[in-house]
Order: sequence, then C-alpha cells, then structure tokens
Amino acid sequence: ARLFGALERQPADALLGLIGLFRQDPRATKIDLGVGVYRDDAGETPVMQAIKAAEHRLAETQPTKAYLGAEGDARFVDLLAPIVFGAALAGDPGLTGVQTPGGTGALRLAAELVARGAGDPKVWIGTPTWPNHAPIFREAGVTVRPHPFFDAASGTVDFAAMASALAEAAPGDVVLLHGCCHNPTGAELDAAQWSALTALVVERGLIPLIDLAYQGLGRGLEDDASATRSMLAAAPEAIVAYSCDKNFGLYRDRVGALWVKADGGSLAAVRDNILVLARSLWSMPPDHGAATVREILEDATLTSSWRRELEEMRSRIAGLRAALADADARLAPLAHQGGMFAMLPLPRDAIFALRASHGIYMAESGRINIAGLRGETVASFVAAIAPYLQ
Ligand code: PMP
Repeated sequence: ARLFGALERQPADALLGLIGLFRQDPRATKIDLGVGVYRDDAGETPVMQAIKAAEHRLAETQPTKAYLGAEGDARFVDLLAPIVFGAALAGDPGLTGVQTPGGTGALRLAAELVARGAGDPKVWIGTPTWPNHAPIFREAGVTVRPHPFFDAASGTVDFAAMASALAEAAPGDVVLLHGCCHNPTGAELDAAQWSALTALVVERGLIPLIDLAYQGLGRGLEDDASATRSMLAAAPEAIVAYSCDKNFGLYRDRVGALWVKADGGSLAAVRDNILVLARSLWSMPPDHGAATVREILEDATLTSSWRRELEEMRSRIAGLRAALADADARLAPLAHQGGMFAMLPLPRDAIFALRASHGIYMAESGRINIAGLRGETVASFVAAIAPYLQ
C-alpha cells in the first residue's frame, strides 16, 4: 500500500478562497468584509508607525541572530505581561509565560499541554467560534465539546444556555473563552455574566483557557483585559493564549505568547513540559516580530505612539459600529458588541446575492469584518443589505 494512498482531499479555507474571488472582481465599488485584518479608512492595512521605528532601530542595533531558545524572547514576554495582566498580577509567581508563533501557536501549545493533563480533559468551545479552534485541539488529540454561545436573534450571548451547558462539564475540563472582541460574533459577556461564569468555573473545577487575540480593539487595552484578569485571579489553574498580531499589526510575523497559571508545586513541571512541547513543534518561535514589540515596550515614546495608533484603530471600529447601528434598527446590537467582527442576520442566499449584485464579499456565515467598511461606504452598504436583513 502507498503511504499517502488513503489520504482524502480536504476542504479549502473558505476565507482564503474569498480573497481570490474578491481579487477577480473588476468592480471599483466592491467591498471586502471577509479576511480578519484591520483596515484604515483608505482600505489599507499599514505597518504601524511604532513598528516601523522599532524595526529600523532593530536593524541598526541587533547584535546577532544566533538561536534564542524554546521560550523565545523572555524580555518580550516580561514586558508584555503588565499590559495583559496589569502590574499586580503580572508579577504573580504562579504564572509562567513563553513566546509563541502567534496566537495560533499559543493555542496549539496549550492544546498539547492539555492533552498531557490529568484525567481525560475535554475542551468546551462556544458555538460559533473562530473556525480554527476545534481543529487545533483535535489535532492535539483533545476531545472538543460544543456549548451554546450566540443568540442570533438578539445579537447577544445566550448566557443561560451557555452556563447550563458548562454546568455539565467535568472537573478538570477546559473552557475556551474569548477574552474580548469575540470572533466571529462580536458578542461579549457583560461584567455580571463574567463574574457568574468565573464563579461557575471555580466551583466546578474547570480550567479557563482565555484566547486574547484583540486586546485594545474592543473597549480599550484595560477594559479588554479585565475579564482575563478577574478569571485568572479567581481560578487556581488557568491558561492565556495571546496574540500581538492584530494589536501590533504584525499578522505575518507571527507574534504571540502563552501563559499558564498553576500552583507552586506543579509550575516548574508545567514550564518544563511547555518547553519540551515547543521544541518538538517549532524548536523556537520566529524572533523578528517579538523583538520589534520588545523594542517598542522598552521605549516610552514608542509605547505611547503604539497606544495612540491602536486607540485610533479601536475608535474607528467603534465609530463604524455606531454608524451601522444608527442606519438600521435591525443592526442595533452591533453598537453593544466589541471588536472587528459581527455576524449579520442574513440568510445564506443573501450572502451570495450581495456578492453577485453589489460586489460585497463576506463569509458564508454572515460574519463581516467591520474594519473593511469606510465611513463613506456605510450608507450604501446598509442600503444593499437592508432588503435581506432579518
Ligand atoms: N484567536 C482568535 C479568536 C483569532 O481570531 C485569531 C486570528 N484570526 C487567532 C486566535 C490567531 O491569531 P494569530 O494570527 O496570532 O495566530
């Protein structure tokens, strides 16, 4: 038998397919709401100014590109920690962190670590979620359990359904949560729901795994981290998978971090296992993007430049959300959600009709990247989708 004879074809990535379709469309008025990268009002995804400056500095001063180690750039991790956890938690001796190739690398490393966990831990994942979540855990051999999350009719979290499903989770199971800016729905738990969920997680002995990929793009750097911080403060064991790829605009440079909180007795073993797993997965993470972030965070001027530009991005997205909500009452929930994504209440055939008749490209789920809109295209966009909105 041939080694590869039994392999089956796999479906192509739907969003990447959408890029191709968009490129081929000759209409000047076409709108790309598919791929999840930030765009400015000119439709561009520019390199942030602080990144450019830090890259120049790095090019001039970097003494070597010799190997680091499986943990990547430790100083990058140390400087990022206070932004994620706040000054108090960042110094928690129960927390250990490493650099990873993007948020995806952090999630995969977390999945491999969970697969080594005691018992037979499952991971609970809301419906819908980022389409890569379930495959990342399955490929690591972890069983995935879905739980309800989004109530499409109201555009909010169906918290009662979510909580009652998670009440069935076994102690030691992992609950994957979006720290902010839910992808694909934009729906977020409010403060009361986060504290109820935190209580449930602690009571049942579940392990929160917080995917924080959009800090600063929802309600601001501090607010976007507050759920992560309170969950971490309360749970004896927790995992945070972090991405710098959106909030530093570094997408293809693959910049992320994984932190694990564990009790004193197991923390050293947790770190050993993380490093052994990282070594077999990618040996060490790519350096350039993380070194660039480190250059920024080591310098007060570059840090404030970065914060300012991130805040401009955030407020542009929030402004578009408000404009959409104002334009049509059926889009009102968008004003109460956060981040780049929203799931529009459109039937599937409307998605294809909008593509054909207006050159409006969005995922088949009805997810849009709000940053793909421009101030001047909001009105024509809402006029185009209005006949189909439910
Ligand atoms: N988590 C979520 C929810 C995401 O949307 C993404 C990126 N689309 C990631 C993680 C992974 O980000 P990265 O590009 O840093 O791997």
